[in-house]
Amino acid sequence: MDMGIKGKRALICASSKGLGFGCAQALAAEGADIIMNARTEGPLLAAAEGIRSTYGVEVTTVAADISTDAGQAKVLAAAGDVDILVNNAGGPPPGMWSDWERDDFIQALDANMLAPIAMIKALVPAMMNRGWGRVVNITSQSVKAPIAVLGLSNAARTGLTGYVAGTSRQVAPSGVTINNLLPGIHATDRAVSLDGGVANAQGISMDDAKTQREATIPARRYGTAEEFGATCAFLCSQHAGFIVGQNILLDGGAVNATL
Ligand code: NAP
Repeated sequence: MDMGIKGKRALICASSKGLGFGCAQALAAEGADIIMNARTEGPLLAAAEGIRSTYGVEVTTVAADISTDAGQAKVLAAAGDVDILVNNAGGPPPGMWSDWERDDFIQALDANMLAPIAMIKALVPAMMNRGWGRVVNITSQSVKAPIAVLGLSNAARTGLTGYVAGTSRQVAPSGVTINNLLPGIHATDRAVSLDGGVANAQGISMDDAKTQREATIPARRYGTAEEFGATCAFLCSQHAGFIVGQNILLDGGAVNATL
């Protein structure tokens, strides 16, 4: 299926690795020119070169921390106007509800709620003027079903979800859609770090931690960045214009719910 986005400009935040990279790759495969971002320049340049040489699209890189005002300004200056925005950032660390202080919440809110909102505010008005735009926010299954040790994530991402629910309906008349993609466990560095936490806490090996987690997923495996990226590309496509303000779970059936 042709996604109809060849030649569109797509900014993918936090995209040198993992799910963001999967989205960048899938959008580039559909012929979009992309702007990639991450804090660490080396892996970002390497990831960009891989995509450039594979898909022959224009790839711009911006090394910056997307959770800060200065980082957002740097990314926005390099990106200019874009047709597609994928919001993403690293996830907050796991912990215990009684240990988190105000500063921990502020950090989580900056990365996983306020940064996406700032990028939406900066880039969506021009999309509305042009009558077409796509925004996808990478959030988490923790929005649908809380993950106790990720309370900072549960809190910040649910805040973004509430903002998107209302805002998506305000911008839809101008041809701009905003939706959220909710990853369950995917085979990325983030999953390795979460498995590491379980292995340490339970005194088991990393392999056992992974096997234990896989057993809780009806699909009996972790998701891949490639399949996550493909869903993102569809949400950013010409075919997805009637999908507005939705929260789409990609979790292999892990969240046990009818709706
Ligand atoms: P990942 O493999 O660790 O990759 C994170 C990417 O984001 C890297 O390119 C990293 O590069 C970049 N990054 C992190 N913080 C950044 C920042 N402040 N500014 C700019 N770039 C930043 O993570 P992932 O698994 O793809 O996860 C992506 C998001 O989905 C996270 O918020 C995570 O919590 C959420 N999520 C993941 C899973 C999963 O199973 N993987 C499940 C649910 C939710 P630098 O480090 O160089 O900046």
